[in-house]
Amino acid sequence: MTRSITVLGSTGSIGVQTLDVARMHHIKVVALTANQRIDILEKQAREFQPALVAVRDAQAAAQLKIALADTDITVLSGEEGILTAARYETADTVVNAIVGVAGLLPTLEAVSAGKQLALANKETLVAGGVVVKEAIRQHGVKLYPVDSEHSAIFQCLQGCPEGALKKVILTASGGAFYGKTRQELANVTVQQALTHPNWSMGAKITIDSATLMNKGLEVIEASWLFDVPDEKIDVLVHRESIIHSMIQLQDNSVIAQLGVADMRIPIQYALTYPERCPSPVKELDLSEIATLTFGKPDTDTFECLAICREALRRGGLLPTVANAANEAAVQLFLEGKISFLQIPALVGQAVGQFDGNNSTVTLENILAADHETRQKILS
Ligand code: NAD
Ligand code: MG
Repeated sequence: MTRSITVLGSTGSIGVQTLDVARMHHIKVVALTANQRIDILEKQAREFQPALVAVRDAQAAAQLKIALADTDITVLSGEEGILTAARYETADTVVNAIVGVAGLLPTLEAVSAGKQLALANKETLVAGGVVVKEAIRQHGVKLYPVDSEHSAIFQCLQGCPEGALKKVILTASGGAFYGKTRQELANVTVQQALTHPNWSMGAKITIDSATLMNKGLEVIEASWLFDVPDEKIDVLVHRESIIHSMIQLQDNSVIAQLGVADMRIPIQYALTYPERCPSPVKELDLSEIATLTFGKPDTDTFECLAICREALRRGGLLPTVANAANEAAVQLFLEGKISFLQIPALVGQAVGQFDGNNSTVTLENILAADHETRQKILS
């Protein structure tokens, strides 16, 4: 079980919930990082007394240094500051709750420093699966999934012998626009897309849920985590978000993990594995919920899921490209510069037009493909 953690992205939705779990279980917090929001970071630093905090934005870091001048806490800035936190010696586990591919280098830094990894940052695996898996093998560290579906699968797999897994069944809430036609999606607003039916999360992942890109990213994430190809990963729409995912075994027995929709369960399991500890999360009352429903995803209307599956099947740098195009497109949508349906259009175009898929998948090529794809969409 984890005794001390570094939380990368501590001011976000997963970061804050990770600190809830740390507080409840008296897990020592040795370093915290954020992009910009120093008001929350200062409060967290005063409560948890880490040795180190790092802020990517240099100006915000300088302000935080002044604000924390009465403490012994070291304040660092920039990418180097985040990487120093990722490898900080006294943590045994690094929780990566950064959003986007910005989490990739910190993940690799933590792994090379021999840290166990509690990974919420799915973009790390989507964009950099090859290099992350290799680094994990080389350094002999453990990766515990935090994404609720992948934690569910990981939980279901406990006690299953090697080779027993036949299929993974990822559940999907369907997001904000479940059941809508393309025509109805043409004029949806940012505010509508930011309203998730069951989960309260950061802006980017909420938009990804509305486009089904999130499920596409999760198919790729599952493929890396559980070593299963695209055709062995089913997606099932389950509006209630009570079953967090399932596995089907060779004998066609299906095992599911259920619970109320609260990320503190998967976060806690990643930190307390293999123990099962009390949690602040409410008990599940199935008699009150009464009905659980299931259906197929509408991949004609929500194209991102199909695009991600294609990127996974064709492999190479295409998952990196799909992810980068989506990050750029979501940024433009949130800034009110493109419409909702332009997100899948831009992701599809980027994957369809990418002509560098003969290059080997190295960290350098991943970062270059990410950068070029993003630039093309943002410029
Ligand atoms: P969020 O936007 O609420 O928080 C993101 C955090 O990352 C913040 O602390 C921010 O300061 C930091 N950050 C942002 N850009 C950065 C950069 N360039 N460099 C360094 N730090 C940066 O996001 P979130 O919803 O907490 O999601 C975090 C990750 O977890 C995402 O990959 C998301 O897909 C995944 N995830 C989230 C949930 C959820 O319930 N929120 C569930 C499953 C998976
Ligand atoms: Mg998820």
